[in-house]
This record gives sequence, structure tokens and C-alpha cells, in this order.
Amino acid sequence: MPVKSFIILSCVAMMFLAPAQAAAEAWFFKPNGNEPPTTDSKYIKLLDKYDGAWIGDPSKKTIYLTFDNGYEEGYTKEILDVLDKKNVPAAFFITGQYIKDQPKVVKRMVKDGHIVGNHSWGHPDLSKISDKKYKVEIKRLDMAFHELTGKHMKYVRPPRGTFSKRALELGYKMGYHNIFWSFAYVDWLTDQQKGKKHAYKSIMKRVHPGAIMLLHTVSKDNAKALPKVIDDLRDEGYQFKSLDYLMGHKKIPEFIFG
Ligand SMILES: [Zn+2]
Repeated sequence: MPVKSFIILSCVAMMFLAPAQAAAEAWFFKPNGNEPPTTDSKYIKLLDKYDGAWIGDPSKKTIYLTFDNGYEEGYTKEILDVLDKKNVPAAFFITGQYIKDQPKVVKRMVKDGHIVGNHSWGHPDLSKISDKKYKVEIKRLDMAFHELTGKHMKYVRPPRGTFSKRALELGYKMGYHNIFWSFAYVDWLTDQQKGKKHAYKSIMKRVHPGAIMLLHTVSKDNAKALPKVIDDLRDEGYQFKSLDYLMGHKKIPEFIFG
């Protein structure tokens, strides 16, 4: 093939390949103290379109606790004990590594009434893998979860918050809600834990109405700070609700729920 034709063909091919490659997005929001943060209006539209969420009703003092469980550092049981004692619902987004390593803990999450969400099997950048690979990443974990608990997953959290319109649509078409977050802090570095006061302060200075909080269970600080965080936020009038409550309220008018 003449070089010129090859270049033209390559460019045509690029036009078709480009969207999947070029459309990678990195989730972000602008913190606003104890007021709800803001994010790109394009992201808000996409999440509305594909029935996902990043924040609840910003006019209500409701908090949604969500944890990412990539692997276990020994604190998840403590977190589950606190949630159980204080009757707080949460969602745990697990990986293939986690379910293989910690099947008993995953069973307990379900038994305790928590939501177990899909953080993909191998934690890849979902914007960079093919449609086929995306489906394998999500289905493989769901199958393992179903085998263990008899249940299916319905919430997906993109690893590292990288995503694309295509990835959101794929999740949506598989029956998942894409769940991002409106609160996070650097809590996942296990060799840089700074004590429970640091976790407490980091949470309290940015907590806001409707917060979907992303916390990592590998954080010793989170585990130790959680009891006081829950008690003090309740004293401030906050209520802890589940992602099922959040998605139910998105679809059904408020007056039915009251
Ligand atoms: Zn992760």
C-alpha cells in the first residue's frame, strides 16, 4: 500500500478509535467547606442520563457512607462493628482481590444489611478498556459475589474515579448505577496514617448535606475515628442513609416517602 493511502486510512481509523481513547475523564469536584461542592455540569448531566449519583439532595442533612475495599489491612471488621453498634448503613465497593481474600467479611457485609458494590475485578481504568473487557471486569466480580451470597450487585464505582461517557453507558446498560462521591480525603496511604484526630478533622471540615462520602477501609485512622464522627454528625442533625434510599428518592417524589 502506498504510504499516502496508509496515512489516510490510519487517520480514518483514528477517527473511529479516538472517542474511546480521548474521552477519559477524571472525577473531580470543588470542595466548599461544609456546603455542598460543585463539579463539571457535563458530569452532572452524564450521571443524570445514566442514572448515577455523586451527591444526594444538598438541601437535606443526609450522609451516605461508602467504602472502597481494594484489599484488606485488618480494619474492615472494626468498621463493621461500629456500623452495627450505631445502626448505620454503608456501601462497600469491593474488587476481585477482596472477595477472593475476604469471603467471610463480604458475607458479613451482606448479613449486616450493607450494600456491596462493584469496584471491578481487577481495578483497571474503565475508560481505557474495551467494551468486552469492561463487561468481563464487572460480570466476573458479580458472578463471584452471587456464588458467595446469592445476591447480585447493582452499584458500580469506577476505580480511581477515571471514567468516560462510554463506560458510564456500559454500566448503565448492564443495570448498574455509577456511584461517584462528593467527599474524599487522602486516607488510603497505609504508611502515612496520621491518627484518628486527623481523620476526624478531615471529615468534619468538609462534610455537607447530601454527602456521598468515599472512605477507604485500609485506613486505621478512619476505623478509629468513625464512632465519634457518627455520634457528632448525628448531634449536628445528620442522618445516615443507604444508596438504595438515595436512588429511591431520585425516582419517587418526596411526598410519597415523606
Ligand atoms: Zn479503588
